Parts: sequence; C-alpha cells; structure tokens
Amino acid sequence: MEWCVSMPKIELHVHLNGSIRDATLLDLARALGDKGLIDFSQVEHVILKNDRSLSEVFKLFDLIHIVTTDHSSITRITKEVVEDFASENVVYLELRTTPKKNDSLGMSKRSYVEAVLEGLRAISSVDVAFIPNSEEPVNLSSTLLSDASDKCNGNTRKKIFVRLLLSIDRRETTEAAIETVMLALEMRRFGVVGIDLSGNPAVGEWTTYLPALMFARQQGLYVTLHCGEVSNSKEIHNMLDFLPQRIGHACFFEEEHWRKLKSSNIPVEICLTSNIRTLSVPTIDAHHFVDLYNAKHPLVLCTDDSGVFSTSLSNEYKIAASTFGLGQKEMFELSKNSIEFIFADDVVKEVLRKTFDSAAKSLT
Ligand code: 5GP
Repeated sequence: MEWCVSMPKIELHVHLNGSIRDATLLDLARALGDKGLIDFSQVEHVILKNDRSLSEVFKLFDLIHIVTTDHSSITRITKEVVEDFASENVVYLELRTTPKKNDSLGMSKRSYVEAVLEGLRAISSVDVAFIPNSEEPVNLSSTLLSDASDKCNGNTRKKIFVRLLLSIDRRETTEAAIETVMLALEMRRFGVVGIDLSGNPAVGEWTTYLPALMFARQQGLYVTLHCGEVSNSKEIHNMLDFLPQRIGHACFFEEEHWRKLKSSNIPVEICLTSNIRTLSVPTIDAHHFVDLYNAKHPLVLCTDDSGVFSTSLSNEYKIAASTFGLGQKEMFELSKNSIEFIFADDVVKEVLRKTFDSAAKSLT
C-alpha cells in the first residue's frame, strides 16, 4: 500500500510531545542523565516499553515533559515533527500542544509557544506555511501543493500548511485555562487557530474548563475536545451539548451519545492505533470507525501521538484500508473530505482542494 504514503493527507490530531521521535527522546534523556539530573537507565526502560494502558501513557507523558520542557528542545521537536509529517505527504497539519510554565527555566506559556514558532521557522528542508494571509513565501497559489512536492535545485521539496491549537490540560484551573485562551488570541497572527481540551480523562471536571472554552468560542477560536476516552456519560453529554467544532476519540459512547453526535454532525478525529494500544476499544474490527464511516458521519484519520504509539498517518490509513476493506479510491476520498473539517480559512481549503484534484489524476 505504497499509495497510503504517496497520497496527500490531512492530519488534525497531533500532540507535539507525543509525536517526538524515539531517537530524540533518548538523546534528550541521555543528556539529562549525563548531567546527573535523571537516572537514564530507568528512563530508557520506560521509553522503550511498547504496550501501555491509558494511565501508563499519562505517566510516560510526565516523563517526556521532564525531558523535553526547555525552549531549545521544544524548538527541535517542533521542527522534527513537522518534517516527519511532510515527508509522508501530509499537506495540512494541525499541531496541538499544552503551553507550559516553568519558572526555574525562565519559561512562561508565551515563551513556550514562541519556542514552537521558532521550530516552524527553523525548517528549511520543507516549505512551511503557517502565517495566515501570507502564504506567498511558499508560493502556494502558483504551484499549489500539487504533487505535494516540486523539484527545486534537483531536490524534492515538500510543502505543508501548519496551524496550531493550544491545549488546556485537564489538571489546570479555570484561571490557567483562560490564560491559555488569552495567549491563543494573542498568537492568532502566527497561526494559532483554536483550543483543544486534553490530558488525563480520569482527572478534572467539565465545569472547570467551560468558562475558558466559552470565552474561546466567543472570541472566534475553534474548539476541539477529547471526548469519551473513558466511560463518563454526563461529561460526554455536556461536551456534545457545547457543540465543539470537532471531537477526538469517542470511544466510550452509548446509544444516546451516538444519536446526539450524529444529529449534530460534529466531525470525529479517529485515532485507531492509539485507541487499540490504550485498550480504549477492544479490537480493531470492533472500532467505531466502521459505523461512522458507513453512516457517512464526518471523520478524519489521525495519529494522536505518533512517537508514543510508534505509528504514522500513512500507517493509520493502511490499517483502516486493510481492516475495513477500503480501496485506494475510498481512502483518497476520506482524506480529501477532511479538508472540510480543518480550522483554517477558505483560501487554504481551496488550495488543498486543488491539490487533491491534481493528485487524483495520478490515481491508478
Ligand atoms: P503536549 O501538549 O505536551 O505537546 O503533548 C502531550 C500532552 O497531550 C499529554 O501530556 C496530554 O495532556 C495530551 N495527550 C496526548 N495524548 C493524549 C490522549 O490520547 N488523550 C488525552 N486526553 N490527552 C492526550
């Protein structure tokens, strides 16, 4: 299924720190070990463990954050993550991350996001368009993203649109959540388009985040919520009643939740490998992807945490195609339809539609 790699793809659910390369994580951990700040042998064992439950995944994130949360590491990871997605022909990427404050490193939520932006600016091997209304530098309108690449000085250059979502961690207070929304508003001109609610679903209350999410919406930011990762019927109802522009996962939905979701037509970010690895769905063929797909409900295939779950978007496409018996044409349509659920403006959507139309000509 080479075509899963070569076809243009849209990726809308990517956590920055969950998408770190294994090699980079080990590299950063080793450097901290050399300074005597962590016990590398213990950390190496945790990093290389492959099967983790959802609660173990959140323990791993705490470890990843100890290793990665300084400005230069965040810049490096951002650069590498975007390069990795571009290399497999992702032509539009929404990257989400939780702005972090760490006084001992002189890190504020703002300087954290600035480090992310620095990572986007540092990319030279790929043409990255992340500043809204000024996409010309990558010459998108004239060359489009046509084959997701063009020839430049004999090298194949990939082109990718990137937009940022700032995540609210469920451990945060209402005030901290509002601070993140204020920061997102300030950073809109640098491609921040929305807010995500994520973090350990066993922690926190919906009412804590609601004021920040309502404020975000009033101010015109898009909102996507991690919804139904654990069985919590009341919270799922509250989240669906909020009418976010998208939700992620939807694993522990009951009949009435499906009814509400389908009648409100809220697009679902589907993360197959993540859901299997965290045991959120029992088996791949029992995954709700198939029901939503058959019902023509809006959905988009995503990786969630390509580093933590050792996957890629092309791999997610392969898994969906082989498990549910979908061919190249169906998968291409699925990918193209995702354009309608992105949080960027109509100009970007139009460029992407043309990109897909152009790529459709080479479908076998
Ligand atoms: P970061 O925001 O630090 O760049 O990415 C890692 C963070 O994303 C984790 O600490 C967690 O808050 C969030 N995250 C990553 N994967 C998942 C997931 O599958 N479910 C939820 N609820 N949150 C996640």
